[in-house]
Amino acid sequence: MLHVGITGGIGSGKTTVCKVFKILGIPVYYADERAKWLMERQASLVEGILGLLGQEAYTAEGTLNRAWISGKVFGNPGLLSQLNALVHPAVAQDGLDWQERQTGCAYTLKEAALLFESGSYLLLDKTIVVTAPLELRIKRVMDRDGVSRQAVQERIDQQMPEENKAKKADYVIFNDGERLLIPQVLAIHQALIEAAQAK
Ligand code: ADP
Repeated sequence: MLHVGITGGIGSGKTTVCKVFKILGIPVYYADERAKWLMERQASLVEGILGLLGQEAYTAEGTLNRAWISGKVFGNPGLLSQLNALVHPAVAQDGLDWQERQTGCAYTLKEAALLFESGSYLLLDKTIVVTAPLELRIKRVMDRDGVSRQAVQERIDQQMPEENKAKKADYVIFNDGERLLIPQVLAIHQALIEAAQAK
């Protein structure tokens, strides 16, 4: 079995593409969602976060105080990398445990916004990047999240440029509203099945 990573900038359409792979029977691990879950539920990680950031990192109900944490680590790269040093290994291990539980498929898919930045691509056999023109990404996220152009732009500015990601990937999916998505996914699906057989 192969383990494949999929990424792309915000609004590129990676979640949409993952839904197509899911329909093809491929198990998908959503690393970002899972990270949020672990940060609230995994006792050792919660303890580490409390130790690093203090009680204010969580609300009285025990949910993550996301806005407060963002404010705290924004503009403090040292603190951000300390937080990442707690979260990334926990998610990496959780992802490996998840992979071990998957059976009966040629490959698994791990979706992560920071696949390259976090180094988690190093644990994977192949990578896919979903890419779309900047303007289209901005419009899609404004519609999806009901947020301003500026808010989307700020999130995009924090990410690695998509061209750099595409250069590192084994496969690129162009979700530009011109090239059809499903035939591209089917071609990669077929190539991955063949690669898994050849392994
Ligand atoms: P990401 O997960 O990369 O941030 P999403 O998959 O959530 O991106 O896509 C962003 C928004 O754009 C969603 O509302 C999605 O439905 C829409 N979208 C994505 N791809 C297409 C497409 N090819 N055609 C129309 N809408 C799309």
